[in-house]
Amino acid sequence: MSKPASDRIPRVLITVSGGVADVICKPAGVDVRIYDYDVDGCDEAKLDRDPDGQPCVIRRFTASKPVLANRRWPIVSHSLNDLARINARRWKCLSCGRSIEHTYEALAEVGTPICGDCDTDMEMIGS
Ligand SMILES: [Zn+2]
Repeated sequence: MSKPASDRIPRVLITVSGGVADVICKPAGVDVRIYDYDVDGCDEAKLDRDPDGQPCVIRRFTASKPVLANRRWPIVSHSLNDLARINARRWKCLSCGRSIEHTYEALAEVGTPICGDCDTDMEMIGS
C-alpha cells in the first residue's frame, strides 16, 4: 500500500522559544536560513544584511549537513521515522513475490535483504 504524498515530503522543524528560533531537524539537501530582525542592541559589525539591505542576523544551515537535535524529542523522532520511510525502497523476492521496505540505513548495516521464505537475495523494485 502506498503512503499519502504528504508523508513522503522531507520535513524541516523550526522551534521558537523565548523569542529565539532554531532549526532542530532537517535532512541533508535542504538549505535553511533564519533571518532574525530583532537586532536592537546588537553589535553593528556583527550584523548581516538581507537582500533589501535591512540589518538582521542570518543563521545558515547548509544543505550538505543534516540537523538533528535530541532524537528523543517526540517531534524529532516522528520526523526521523518519516525520513526513514522516505528513504525506504521496496524490495521483492523474485522467487515467491514477497516484498518488503528496506531503508538505505538498513542496506548499509545488513546489506541486500534476503527473503525469509526462500533464503535468496531480494531485488530492489523502486520506491
Ligand atoms: Zn521468497
